[in-house]
Order: sequence, then C-alpha cells, then structure tokens
Amino acid sequence: MLLNVNKLLHTPDSQQEVRFEMDLHDLEFGGSYPVSQPVTVEGRIRNKAGVLHCSLHASTTLHCVCDRCMELFTTEKTVEHYCVLAQERQSEDDDEIVLLENDTVDLGEVARTAFILEMDTKTLCSPDCMGLCPGCGVNLNHEECRCKKAVDPRLAKLAQLLENK
Ligand SMILES: [Zn+2]
Ligand SMILES: [Zn+2]
Repeated sequence: MLLNVNKLLHTPDSQQEVRFEMDLHDLEFGGSYPVSQPVTVEGRIRNKAGVLHCSLHASTTLHCVCDRCMELFTTEKTVEHYCVLAQERQSEDDDEIVLLENDTVDLGEVARTAFILEMDTKTLCSPDCMGLCPGCGVNLNHEECRCKKAVDPRLAKLAQLLENK
C-alpha cells in the first residue's frame, strides 16, 4: 500500500484517511500460521504544523494453537501504531520517524512491521490454561488427570523420584 503524501505535506491542517487489507497468512509464529485471515488496516495521516502524524489501527482474527494444551482457538487481535512521516530524520535514534521516499510511504510495510512486533511470543488459549498432563496426556482444562490414581503403590516411590527430577 504505497501512498504519496505530497499534497498532504504542502497543505496545512489537511488529513487523509486510509483503509486497506494485508495478507499475512505466510507469517510463521512458533511453527504455526495464525494470521490466516486478512488484516484490516485503518489509518489517518494528519498535517499538524507541517509535521505528518500517522496513526494506524490493524485488526484481524487469529487462528492459534495453544502452546500448553495444543487446542485450536481464535482470538481477536488489534494493533495500534503511531509514527511520524518525514523527509529526513531529526536525530539518529528517533524510531518514531518513517522516512519518505519521493514523498511516498509504504504504509503496508509500516503496518506489517508494527503488527509483527505486537505478536505475542507465547500463545495461550487462556492465561490460566492448565495444559496437558505430561503423564497421561489428558487436556487438564477438560478432564482430570488419570495417571496419579493408576500408580501402583510399589511404584509410588519411583514416581515421586521422577516428579522431583
Ligand atoms: Zn490451552
Ligand atoms: Zn496425568
């Protein structure tokens, strides 16, 4: 999504709304591809005192696999992003600034980067997901663990040793 902001740059107090969709289905996070639906991006670029302020709002429904219980679930994801569009950097470490090239900005690239940075490194179906029992493999969110009851008293000591490992 390339946008030429030449007119905005030279018109004080002007603003422009943008809306586009991004396809991020090939993005891999921890072995799965959660962004299987298009990401809708809505944004506004505003010229305030000669400075172009850009705010973006990206949203989609993620299709995830829980890291703990391995169940599929969907979750709404929204990302807010703000940056300034400028022809040159004022200082070296100003990472809010996106440089224009021939008065053009690649908003798709800006939104894509912002979205990726906001993806959680851990994917859980709920913050208190209990996961799978390492012994019997049941999903502890739905079922009770069966392995503890099945332990032979003679093996209990061994089981305890293993647990303490
Ligand atoms: Zn889970
Ligand atoms: Zn178990």
